[in-house]
Amino acid sequence: MPPSTKNHLELREYANSHGTDVSPVNRHDKKLVKSEGRKTGDVQSNALDKRSSPFIYVKYGDWSVVWRNVIIFTILHLLYFYAVYLLLKEGRYKPWLLGWWFALWGGMGITAGAHRLWSHKSYKARLPLRIFLMLGQCIAGQNDLYTWCRDHRVHHKFSETDADPHNSLRGYFFAHMGWLLMKKHPDVMTKGKQVELHDLLADPVIRFQRKFYIPLFLMFAFIFPTALSVYLFNETWKFAFFSAGILRYVTSLHCTWFVNSTAHMFGGRPYNEKINPRENVWVSFGAFGEGYHNYHHTFPWDYATSEFSFGVNVSKLFIDAMAFIGQAYDLKRVPKHYVVDRKHKISAKSEH
Ligand SMILES: [Zn+2]
Ligand SMILES: [Zn+2]
Repeated sequence: MPPSTKNHLELREYANSHGTDVSPVNRHDKKLVKSEGRKTGDVQSNALDKRSSPFIYVKYGDWSVVWRNVIIFTILHLLYFYAVYLLLKEGRYKPWLLGWWFALWGGMGITAGAHRLWSHKSYKARLPLRIFLMLGQCIAGQNDLYTWCRDHRVHHKFSETDADPHNSLRGYFFAHMGWLLMKKHPDVMTKGKQVELHDLLADPVIRFQRKFYIPLFLMFAFIFPTALSVYLFNETWKFAFFSAGILRYVTSLHCTWFVNSTAHMFGGRPYNEKINPRENVWVSFGAFGEGYHNYHHTFPWDYATSEFSFGVNVSKLFIDAMAFIGQAYDLKRVPKHYVVDRKHKISAKSEH
């Protein structure tokens, strides 16, 4: 079943009317942010201003560190290194491979679910698929769907300003995982309130997951893959937990974080040279097709998150397959001629 396409203006109207216009902050807002910054002598928020310093936000003696998260992530990474040691020492790889099937399910929960379905409404999904994606998102363990989508919509709307939760102007580490170790900038809270979220809580699948998130997370991220490894491969609980649970979890966290760090810093900008997000095929490889980030920030409502129908984009293949069996529908795409025209204009401009 070929995806239905709508023209650009219709899509923009659609995005506005559904409260999902998460395109970069508009010109008026940008001016406002800029002038506010000047008035208070505060951070220069305009992503395009060369005078911006990634370190200007940090005050000595006030690092606003969330120690609870620092401890959790430190322990998690120590367990990860122990898991690598255990895997190499024991040399039994079946639970580890099973873990990768869970990683794929978890990946679809994030990319096809939290990101393309719920954050951007780039297609619609029937209840069985929504439940499958919600459980996958529990495997990935990146906060509940409501929180994930809220942060992501704010990231798009205020990209690379103080209000962006993982503003890449604050440096690679901050964009990657540092933002989870520090208190949010006040602008993330205040400006974040402008982002429409009611549609998320209107979905009973999201409400259910939010209510039972912790037990669902523990069950699907750790207990289920561990128990399955013990049952299928006659493994010990300890080895199964480290190889199918911890290894998979920490690796997949970093694969998602690379979208916010690497894909905001390294790669080309063929669709919009005025924003920082980049096209990075390596990130697409690790994050199931989410590395075409210059395209995605330019056209956030496109379910493929890429100009190309074929490429390193497992999530697009998955959504296409779901459309084929009738579980996904109303897939939105930006018309090819519009994308090509825009690309030509930008490359012609850069040649002059
Ligand atoms: Zn981004
Ligand atoms: Zn997005």
